[in-house]
Amino acid sequence: MTHPGDTPNGPSAMVIDERHFDVLIIGSGAGGGTMAGALAAAGRKVLLLEQGSVLPLGDQNVADITLFRRQRYHPEQEWIGTDGDPFSPQMVEALGGNTKIWGGVLERMLPEEFIGLPMQEGTGPDWELRYADLEPWYDQAEQLYRVHGEAGQPFGAQPLPPFQLELRAALERQGLHPYRLPLSVSESAEDPSGDAERFGVDRALGQAGFELRQGARVLMLHCDASGSEVRGVEAQIGHQRWLFKAHQVVLAAGAIGSAVILLRSASDAHPHGLANGSDQVGRQLMRPQLTAMLQRAGRANSGRYGPGLGVLDFHGGDRNVRYALGAVRGGGGVLQDPLFAESPPVLSLVSRLLPDGALEWLADRSVSWWVSSAVSPDPGNRVSLRGERVVINYLPNNCEAHDRLVYRWLDVMQRVENDPDTTVVQRAPIYPRGEAPLSVMGFSCGTCRMGSDPATAVVSLEGRCHGLANLWIADASVFPGCPAVGLGLTVVANALRIGEAIGGILG
Ligand SMILES: Cc1cc2nc3c(=O)[nH]c(=O)nc-3n(C[C@H](O)[C@H](O)[C@H](O)COP(=O)(O)OP(=O)(O)OC[C@H]3O[C@@H](n4cnc5c(N)ncnc54)[C@H](O)[C@@H]3O)c2cc1C
Repeated sequence: MTHPGDTPNGPSAMVIDERHFDVLIIGSGAGGGTMAGALAAAGRKVLLLEQGSVLPLGDQNVADITLFRRQRYHPEQEWIGTDGDPFSPQMVEALGGNTKIWGGVLERMLPEEFIGLPMQEGTGPDWELRYADLEPWYDQAEQLYRVHGEAGQPFGAQPLPPFQLELRAALERQGLHPYRLPLSVSESAEDPSGDAERFGVDRALGQAGFELRQGARVLMLHCDASGSEVRGVEAQIGHQRWLFKAHQVVLAAGAIGSAVILLRSASDAHPHGLANGSDQVGRQLMRPQLTAMLQRAGRANSGRYGPGLGVLDFHGGDRNVRYALGAVRGGGGVLQDPLFAESPPVLSLVSRLLPDGALEWLADRSVSWWVSSAVSPDPGNRVSLRGERVVINYLPNNCEAHDRLVYRWLDVMQRVENDPDTTVVQRAPIYPRGEAPLSVMGFSCGTCRMGSDPATAVVSLEGRCHGLANLWIADASVFPGCPAVGLGLTVVANALRIGEAIGGILG
């Protein structure tokens, strides 16, 4: 295998860092950044390896039409898609990972989702963990990420813009139960949305035993001869390869990154990839089905505001079906939502054809919604490697449930517009909408599923890889199922839970 640092005459020499850290964490996103902060604050000697570096403020808080004009947030990588064609994934390689561009909506999964909801195609997976197991960690996660909300979150909800208050009342008149979406809010005016850099990495940076290496892309993990313990972590930093050592190693490189590192770490003891005795590494890849919908605003708004209202009335079904349909979420200002710029083919096409002024006009006169539905795990949906290339094979399932929710929401929008007391939205001949394409990978989960049976799962319920004494996974890859609401808070809570288990082992 060749590596980016190899010379034409062969591999470059590897620098071996002889220090032994308590914990080495790979990836600084929702899982890794959070865990680094918690373990470093507990006095552990922690090394955090992150392939990206600090994302400049100007790139974090884009709130204008340049969001539509440039292909932002696409690292220099091409993956192979289901159709065999290359595509450029949308995700952030930076300190804080995808949390640097997330909407900051941090919601808990519903208790019934851990047991397995009735789905259009069968029943959702049993997580084996229950809501009660995560509840104390959800509490801590909300405190740490300063989650503001109106349903018992530690910080009170921020006020809604007036047009959203009117919209809320209009939805209530339709018999729905809209709620204020819980948001992570920082104390910084420059960077108001909370993320894993601010609430994870920054927390660690003040601690004596903490070390951060940015621009450190982990290539593979090396085991002892028996294959039961990770002895070294190989990373590319600039043009140099490095080997780092730690008592406990945590993968938190995200649903794609963690699976890729395990697959690249194949050896005689693990011919199909590390921790892959179950043949589950890379499989059961899930991405919620996401459709963006635009409604015409009755009067101009700024096009720049945070996500506002959520609606879960159709989560468990509607008047016709008793299976899960999903969640609806107010998308926030069109000019600051990277997903709008990226994903809905209708909008991205429109945005390319319109002059800047017209695009501003469209954004200012739109109310945006995201409609999302869970998918079921499918072993055929997977990330794999072809040489050094990442290959994504993915076909969504439960599509009828998603279509049903989209049409249900169209119906709600029209009824709200017909309400004579509602002026914030207006009837329009069309409702621009589009489904997020494969390139939107920042919401992925699965690929290293958690479960008690080593024959069918990659990590145990406590987060340790089956068959490996000191390798853990603490990111969205361990999810056995795909929630309809955002994954972020559950990733954070689970990382805190696993961090506590690792702390217990270190004594
Ligand atoms: C535009 C957008 C909006 C979103 N909005 C929301 C929202 O409002 N609410 C919500 O709950 N979720 C949201 N999400 C999803 C959320 O961001 C992810 O679910 C969450 O960040 C996943 O956490 P993670 O720790 O698994 O991975 P990530 O946060 O992606 O972190 C993985 C980290 O690992 C690093 N890494 C990868 N490979 C390597 C390697 N080989 N070596 C070193 N480092 C590596 C990456 O650079 C990255 O920093 C959004 C996502 C996007 C893209």
